[in-house]
Parts: sequence; C-alpha cells; structure tokens
Amino acid sequence: MNMKEVGYRKEMDKEADKETDNEMDTDLLYSGMNADLIKDMADKKEVLWFNANLESVTPMSEMAGRKFVYIRAAQNRLLRFMPYIEKFFPETEERKGIIESQLLVLPEFSKYVRENYPDFRGRILLKDDAHLPIAGSVKARGGIYEVMVHAEKLAMKAGLLQPTDNYLKLDSKECRDLFGKHTVQVGSTGNLGLSIGIMSAKFGFKVIVHMSADAKQWKKDLLRSHGVTVVEYEGDYSSAVEQGRRLSAEDPMSYFVDDENSEDLFLGYATAALRLKVQLFKAGIAVDEMHPLFVYLPCGVGGAPGGITYGLKQIFGDYVHCFFAEPIATPCFTLGMASGMKSEISVYDIGLDGTTIADGLAVGRASEIVCDAMDTLVSGSYTVEDDNLIKYMKMLNDMEDVFLEPSACAGVHGLMLQGSGKMQAYIDKNGLTDCMAGSTHLVWGTGGGLVPDNVKAELLKS
Ligand SMILES: *Cc1c(COP(=O)(O)O)cnc(C)c1O
Repeated sequence: MNMKEVGYRKEMDKEADKETDNEMDTDLLYSGMNADLIKDMADKKEVLWFNANLESVTPMSEMAGRKFVYIRAAQNRLLRFMPYIEKFFPETEERKGIIESQLLVLPEFSKYVRENYPDFRGRILLKDDAHLPIAGSVKARGGIYEVMVHAEKLAMKAGLLQPTDNYLKLDSKECRDLFGKHTVQVGSTGNLGLSIGIMSAKFGFKVIVHMSADAKQWKKDLLRSHGVTVVEYEGDYSSAVEQGRRLSAEDPMSYFVDDENSEDLFLGYATAALRLKVQLFKAGIAVDEMHPLFVYLPCGVGGAPGGITYGLKQIFGDYVHCFFAEPIATPCFTLGMASGMKSEISVYDIGLDGTTIADGLAVGRASEIVCDAMDTLVSGSYTVEDDNLIKYMKMLNDMEDVFLEPSACAGVHGLMLQGSGKMQAYIDKNGLTDCMAGSTHLVWGTGGGLVPDNVKAELLKS
C-alpha cells in the first residue's frame, strides 16, 4: 500500500487553503477551548473529545431544527421505491426491495475484547453496512435516497408519476427519456460516487462523478463500467466537490448532490435508525434506562454519522450515546467541534497533511449543516491511527470472516476506549456506571462490500 498516493495534494490547493483561511489565528487556537486536545491532534496523536454542549432530548421531538416527520417521510419514500429497487437490484429481492444491512454479533472478536480489555462491559454488535446492497457502503443510505428524491420530483413535475403509482413506472420510456436529458453530478472520495453513480445511471440519468486524489482506481473503473463519466482531480475531497458544484451550476439541466450541504442525504442516513430499532427489538436487545446503547460511527464530512445520530436520538433519546470516529490525519469533525469553529477550520490549518489509508474518511473540512445539527446531539468523537485501522480490519476478517475496508474499521476503536479514564468520566457523569453491564456497543461497519478480491488481498497483506 502506497500511503503517499492516498493523501497526495497539489501545492496549489494548499496555497488556496492558506488564502481562504488567512484569517486563522493559530495562537488563539492553541490557547482557547480544548487547546491541549487540538495540540495533540496537530501532533497526530489519538484523541478523545467529549461534547460539553450535549443536551437531553425527548424522542420524536424537534431536534436540530428538524421534525421527526421528516424521517418518516423519507422512510415512506424508500417504501414507494421498493418495487423498482427489487426489480433492478436482484440482491434486494429477499427483502422485497428494501436496502438494509444485517446486525451481526461478533463472538470471537467479543471474546478478544473481553480478554484484552478487562474493563469492557456490555455486548458488542456490528452494523454491517459494508454489505448494504447496490453500493456496498453506508452511502447506499444517503446517496441512493437523494437520487430517488430527484428522480421522483422530476417525474412528478412532468406529470409522469403519482405517489400512489407503482414506481416501476420510472422505467417507462417517457421517464427514461426525461431522465436522459438530465445530468447528476457529485464530488466524492469514492463511495458516495459509487452510490450516486450506480443509482443515477440505473434511472437513465447522465452522471458525472468528480473524484478526489484519494479515490481508489477500482472505484473509478467500476463507475465507468456503469457508463458514468469520472473526472479525476489531483486535489482533495473539498476541491473535487467545489469543482463539481461549479460545473453543475453552469448547466441548467444538471443537479449537484452536495455532500457538504445536503438535507436529503442527511435524512436518507437518518432512516437507518427506524430500521435499527426493529432489528434490535427482534434480537431481544433492550435500549432503555438500564440498557444504554453506545454507537461508534466512522466520520468523513459528517453526513452519514450525523444523519444516523440524528435518527438514533429521535428514536432512543438520551439512552443512545453516539461517538464519531476519524483518522488521525483528517479529524475535521473533532477539530471543528473542539475548536468551536466547525466548518470554518480545516485539518490543514493545524499542519496535518490528510494522508491516510482511510480514503472514505479523507476529508479536511467537516460539513457545516452537520456540525450545527450535532451541536447538542453527539456525545463525542475520537481519532484512530492508520495502523489500528489495519489491525482491526485484519482481526474482523480473521476472527469473524467479515471484511470491512480500513475506513469502515474506525468505529471498532470506540470499544477499546471504555476502560480509559476519560470515557469512565463520561459514564459517571451521565449516571451510567451501574448499567454498563447491560449496555450495548454498536460498531457501524460502513463499507467494503464492493472491494475487489485482489485489492482485498493487498489490504490484508499490508
Ligand atoms: C463516506 C464514508 C463514511 C463517512 O461518511 P461521511 O458522510 O463522509 O461522514 C464512513 N465510512 C465509509 C466507508 C465511507 O465511505
């Protein structure tokens, strides 16, 4: 694995960053809120941050300016599309066109954690989004949902579709002709491009995916095989998004899926919570006052973990504790939240170079809408070294025969934090000390299902 290749950025981008951020006062950064933590991040140390603004919430109430009905509406839209999804993505046949992943118990890995981390209490579960149909990553939730919203709007506006229709109608000649006149564009480090690209191409849209330097070759090849135009950039994720946004704006027939600002993506991710509730219930796993649920979510720009957290807080309120996980090279969310500067600061501002094996999380600047939405909902976040990501990837593969890509393993690290003094302080402060034995720890495994065998073998050897 050539680590240089993944985080390569053009000098030009760094200059551009410097220009836009010339207001940045780093002295203030290192003397203000969470100064020590920010210093540790700049020194590429693993850190654990807790959200001092965390507030108590009531399930199904208005949160972060959004109502619970928005999630319900998103869920209903997904249901309307079931016949279409079932027909065109045979891997969803078993679930009649529902795009969902399994909840896995990890017997061997749980044994390992208990033996090596004697302070660990509770049950371990994995949400296997690496094997979500169609896109093989958590992006199948937000990305596919947003393309559905777009297709539905266009078809309804043209009078070709009613909400009560069988959505197989979207494959009619009229609809396909309509979609063929429109372009969908997106900027991506890889996985979002896959989900938007595959879904949009299926509807018959023209698709352009703007890929950052981090994007893996196989992801570009796979997209091209679906007839998607892939434009490659030497810059990072933010610059790919920026280029895509600009080019799309020049074309009135083009729609840009804006990962940094999209409400639809966010809500698509949020629906995961409704499904998880049912899965936990069916598995006989309680989430209540005596049975807290800890969730560890890999974070790039923040949309996926943010949307899922928003959904989980709507469902479980104060009984769920969500933590975001980032590589030490791109802790954009942790940095934004800990400094209070949210999307106003990038990891390059503290001298990090963004080089990480976790290409799905290689994002230098967090989403503004996600930072705002998470202000009172997220419990905290932490960072993980690449070596640990590789270690967890190998362990899950060897012990459980579950393959996750390195980015997707960032959640695993959350389990190892329970014994730490800082996490114990959080547990004590939230009155959870006596119920940790009944706690559930859910690692969100966010991707890896489409990784080709040769790339997989290469990663497992690294
Ligand atoms: C995109 C991605 C994430 C994080 O999603 P964001 O919306 O960028 O925060 C996590 N894991 C994998 C594998 C991803 O591709």
